[in-house]
Amino acid sequence: MRRVSAVLCTLLAALVGPATAQTTNAAPSADWRQRGVCYEVFVRSFFDSDGDGVGDLGGLIQKLDYINDGDPASQRDLGASCIWLMPIMQSPSYHGYDVSNYYQVDREYGTNADFRRLVAEAHRRGIRILVDLVLNHSSSEHPYFKAALLDAASPFRDWYVWAPQAGPQGSWSVPIWHRVPGRDEFYFGLFWSGMPDLNLANPAVRAEAEEIARFWLTEMGADGFRFDAVMHFFEEGEHHRHGAQTHPWLRDYQAALRRIEPDVYTVGEVWDSIGAIRAYYPDQLDSYFIFEVADGILDAARSGTKQRFLAAVERAQREFPRGRWSPFLRNHDQTRTLTELQGDVARNRLAATLLLTLPGLPFVYYGEEIGMTGAKPDPRLRTPMHWARAPHAGFTRALPWEPLQPDSFTANVQVQDADPASLLNLHRRLIHLRAAHPALGASADFVPLATADDAALAYLRRSPEQTVLVLANLGTRRLPAPQLSAGGSVLPAGRYTARTLLGREARGTLRVGADGRAAGWSPVPALEPLETVILELARTG
Ligand code: CA
Repeated sequence: MRRVSAVLCTLLAALVGPATAQTTNAAPSADWRQRGVCYEVFVRSFFDSDGDGVGDLGGLIQKLDYINDGDPASQRDLGASCIWLMPIMQSPSYHGYDVSNYYQVDREYGTNADFRRLVAEAHRRGIRILVDLVLNHSSSEHPYFKAALLDAASPFRDWYVWAPQAGPQGSWSVPIWHRVPGRDEFYFGLFWSGMPDLNLANPAVRAEAEEIARFWLTEMGADGFRFDAVMHFFEEGEHHRHGAQTHPWLRDYQAALRRIEPDVYTVGEVWDSIGAIRAYYPDQLDSYFIFEVADGILDAARSGTKQRFLAAVERAQREFPRGRWSPFLRNHDQTRTLTELQGDVARNRLAATLLLTLPGLPFVYYGEEIGMTGAKPDPRLRTPMHWARAPHAGFTRALPWEPLQPDSFTANVQVQDADPASLLNLHRRLIHLRAAHPALGASADFVPLATADDAALAYLRRSPEQTVLVLANLGTRRLPAPQLSAGGSVLPAGRYTARTLLGREARGTLRVGADGRAAGWSPVPALEPLETVILELARTG
């Protein structure tokens, strides 16, 4: 099947001629936003193709089949339909969140031509590419900033924020005003002196931000962006979060991106509560990462209680437009899941199952699917991927840029690939399940059910054509015949039978009365500690 479609692709490519950058955007389809899952990749740590110890775009291209092999029938791949690339633009730092040239791939990662090849190879497999775009600040090495620093008459002077004295520090714990050497003058840089904040209120900066996006969308073929530090775009005096100008700016910018590429996808980092993120809807970016949901999932997996998890998900469903929020477990700034859960793989499995059965478009940080560990400092959250039981875990043939985690010999793709019960194979099954079931889609309903036992968590995912039940034992005690009940109008009246999609076999029939209520249904004979089961409910009468 795979071979046939590859041959067809080659034939088609021969007929239509070589793809140009302008035509490589993936086929327009809203479906990936509904059924897809995104995978966050730190290129430096993914795979090194040229033996310098640093991951690169060529290495990522070689590993694309691991992420998605383009064959919907195969479950050998992770099945992700989108990749968020942490910054790949030229930068003096290892992490790239301080850009010194927005139009150039960092030479350690490859060339602009390598990026275009990545896009073509990704699109061939149905994978969209989202580029991390850092607009809050540039690098202090950026020629814009250097020009502004050297010459007060420079046209780039007003691209940054200057003051004769340090401005208000507010509640920020690190210095945010930085003295210009040899002058009685300061510039504003919220994160670090090496990251001077761009003056986004300047129309010239706004125009440049649009030009950068145009370049990546039309000349490089990217499908969208992840925007860094969105809540810090505008300061107001001593307040460094959620400046009022942020919202019209984003609204206007998103509209400009749509004019450039109608199918563009944008997701923003607003590291705050659901209540605070509300102000970024309905007409700014497409989606935002919901940190409260991430914390709720981890809390459920860690504590065995469901209240915080359910409250966060229900709140997200209530406050945000359907499907337009992004659950995740951990990102590159946070302790990895398995470390957070003190090495308890069963709890990690539970957390992954909750994440990948939630509404919205979920993001999975690379290595989470094999249970990589890591705690701060930052480089230890971003260590090289464990591919194989081999020197340097198969990441490089040289010395890796950062030492691997100590468990690379056991927690790696090769070992987990061969184990049907591994965390990796669970991720593959869940992501493929999501792709195949509209009820698990981004916009489908999320309906918690009441359970007789507090340790049991149950919720329905429901689309017009389908209903799926997720049932989990959050506790450490075996639950014999866990009972569920539903208040009014959760399901149309009738008899339902359950078919297992993941986990143990279901039994019995659910009867929903004319009032839409159901009580005392126990769809499985028992749930072991931390066990989950996913069932599809079909109406049979
Ligand atoms: Ca390399």
